[in-house]
Amino acid sequence: MPRVRRYAARNVIRRLRLSLLCLLPFLLGVDRPPGLVDVREIRTWSYADYTRVVVEFDQEVELEADPTVPLSANPAAGMPERLYIDLPGVWVGRRYTEGVPVGDGLLQGVRLRQNTRTLSRLVVDLDRYAGHRFFTLRSPDRLVLDVYGEPQKKRASAPPANKSDPQSKSRLSMATRLLSTVVIDPGHGGRDPGAVGIGGIHEKDVNLKLALLLKKRLEARAFEVVLTREDDRYLNLEERTAIAESAKGDVFISIHSNASDNRKLRGIEVYYLDQDDDRHNVEVAARENGVKPGQVDQLQKTLARLRVAEASRHSRDLATYVHGDLTRGLAQNYSNVSDLGIKTGPFYVLFMSSMPSILVEAGFLTNPKDAKQLSDDRYLDVMAAQIAAGLGHYRNRAPKRAARGEGLSGEGGL
Ligand SMILES: [Zn+2]
Repeated sequence: MPRVRRYAARNVIRRLRLSLLCLLPFLLGVDRPPGLVDVREIRTWSYADYTRVVVEFDQEVELEADPTVPLSANPAAGMPERLYIDLPGVWVGRRYTEGVPVGDGLLQGVRLRQNTRTLSRLVVDLDRYAGHRFFTLRSPDRLVLDVYGEPQKKRASAPPANKSDPQSKSRLSMATRLLSTVVIDPGHGGRDPGAVGIGGIHEKDVNLKLALLLKKRLEARAFEVVLTREDDRYLNLEERTAIAESAKGDVFISIHSNASDNRKLRGIEVYYLDQDDDRHNVEVAARENGVKPGQVDQLQKTLARLRVAEASRHSRDLATYVHGDLTRGLAQNYSNVSDLGIKTGPFYVLFMSSMPSILVEAGFLTNPKDAKQLSDDRYLDVMAAQIAAGLGHYRNRAPKRAARGEGLSGEGGL
């Protein structure tokens, strides 16, 4: 090698080493300014109608109601259509520079990079895009971006799907398809006992027992049943809804048992998702969401923004049928049944499910009468049979709803 070229090559290597040295602190994250929020994990979930992107942080990030910015494709630069969200005060360093591939026909992938020393940018590379919804959750702190691939109004008014094709069981044809798959979600589990009642009775155990009995009762009525858990294990809310979505459930029933400082309080409540300022309902929602009552505010605002009230019509119908059969049937078998009625509340697990969803509070484990009944397998089985009867009645109503041509037009804004 001639001397000059050798020198030039050495020079290039030296310069490269120098620039690498300068970059080193940045690469290692040493350059991280203090007081920033760290990214714990990016998760994605692909479903028939949408893809869910979740970014989990180690503390709360202050974001606008919907900070998502759409960018059109730039073929010259080889860039697809994108969405981006700026995350001020968030540090991610170089961890996700390579991106997280998705490749489900809707999203190409997700990238998260350090844009400035104090701002990260989440970029979603799209294959198809028709709309999205954005919200944040607490405990743990995370943002959720659901990306939809087809115009929702168009799908809402689409003709009934071919029922032999499981892929066609799309979310928005739910008014026009037969109800066959019920997802039962026994609340809590594993390290999360839920409410702890009289005699140390754990809510998670009561919920599971009732869910397993309900499964049997529903199968006897020719429903397909999927449980989010069949044993004593911990699941977060996303895992619960992911199981429901992957199973292409037609309805989602979350089973819980209540608790109150007021030991006299007893009775059954059936909830569906909506805003509600009633103190008791907010307290129940906070406990089931695993957050403090004050933190329910955030979900209330999101519900208002996404106009969930209209979309929850099917859930309200479902609640009406299940509540009716449950309370009437129990009253025929037991003399001291207390009914607290159909209620609304801001429950994350209902909000994150895309099918008609209700949450049954089977009774108060902190009340002596309720706790005794909920410890009785026969009582739980009567409950299960009556919830199943309610679902049977709801299923029988489904063709009538289809005949009226009701779609989920209320969800057009999501
Ligand atoms: Zn619970």
